[in-house]
Amino acid sequence: VPFDQKDGWIWMNGSFVPWKDAKIHVLTHGLHYASAVFEGERAYNGTIFKLREHTERLFHSAEILDFKIPYTIEEIDEASNATLAKNGLVDGYLRPIAWRGSEAMGVSAQKNKINVAIAAWEWPSYFTPAERLKGIRLDWAKYRRPDPRTAPSLAKASGLYMICTISKHAAEARGYADALMLDWEGNVAESTGANVFFVKDGVIHTPLADRFLNGITRQTVIGLAKSRGLEVIERRIAPEELSTFSECWLCGTAAEVTPVSEIGEHKFTPGKISADLMQAYTDLVQGAKVLA
Ligand code: PMP
Repeated sequence: VPFDQKDGWIWMNGSFVPWKDAKIHVLTHGLHYASAVFEGERAYNGTIFKLREHTERLFHSAEILDFKIPYTIEEIDEASNATLAKNGLVDGYLRPIAWRGSEAMGVSAQKNKINVAIAAWEWPSYFTPAERLKGIRLDWAKYRRPDPRTAPSLAKASGLYMICTISKHAAEARGYADALMLDWEGNVAESTGANVFFVKDGVIHTPLADRFLNGITRQTVIGLAKSRGLEVIERRIAPEELSTFSECWLCGTAAEVTPVSEIGEHKFTPGKISADLMQAYTDLVQGAKVLA
């Protein structure tokens, strides 16, 4: 079945509507001008992992795009939990989205209503289990992450994903699982939907997240690594340095911790640190209910 024809319920502007009926008008500002921000969350054992952090980021992204979500953070948290329950999900993925409506047409959108919807569905693994075991292969993306002076790079804004879809399609056409993007200065940035980490001589290196999305999973993995006594260095990483790294992984809400075996001409061997952090992340999210 097409994704919009599924059974289920979507929370839309304060009430539940049947999944198939959760529609918007073609003149929606969010569609024409990308005035939309969203989140991606996972629930494990009935608990949405880091729900408050995700909801706060949704509000922050909206603020960056100059709009105010007409609910409180508590209301969106509650609606997220209700969406999970209403769809009978214990483990699942949640997609809250906020966008400017169709009340006026034009770049200026002072009078357009701010809409919010939350959907939830089963999404076991972003990359296939076989890919995750062996490590995924990444191509270099043609597009770079935009300079924060060029676009609201720190927001989880729909418009920023235009270059991600183009890059992911190009990578898939060449037989890769995903693409790795550089920042505007040519340093390693992130993949089209996850942050990236490397290992050299037992030390973890990851790009400074001051010019792309500072993933909640990224922050979690840094915390897990440090609590295990591992050193984590956040810094600019030049693509030429990739030949000096032994391990590499991507991490994000959907991707969780996924080892990488190749980036372009560079090869990595999923090793002990990747495996350790993959397990530590799984243990943490699975135990989310106990810890919450
Ligand atoms: N970068 C991009 C471009 C993403 O889409 C995501 C997924 N939201 C991430 C990084 C990782 O963010 P998080 O760990 O908060 O899911």
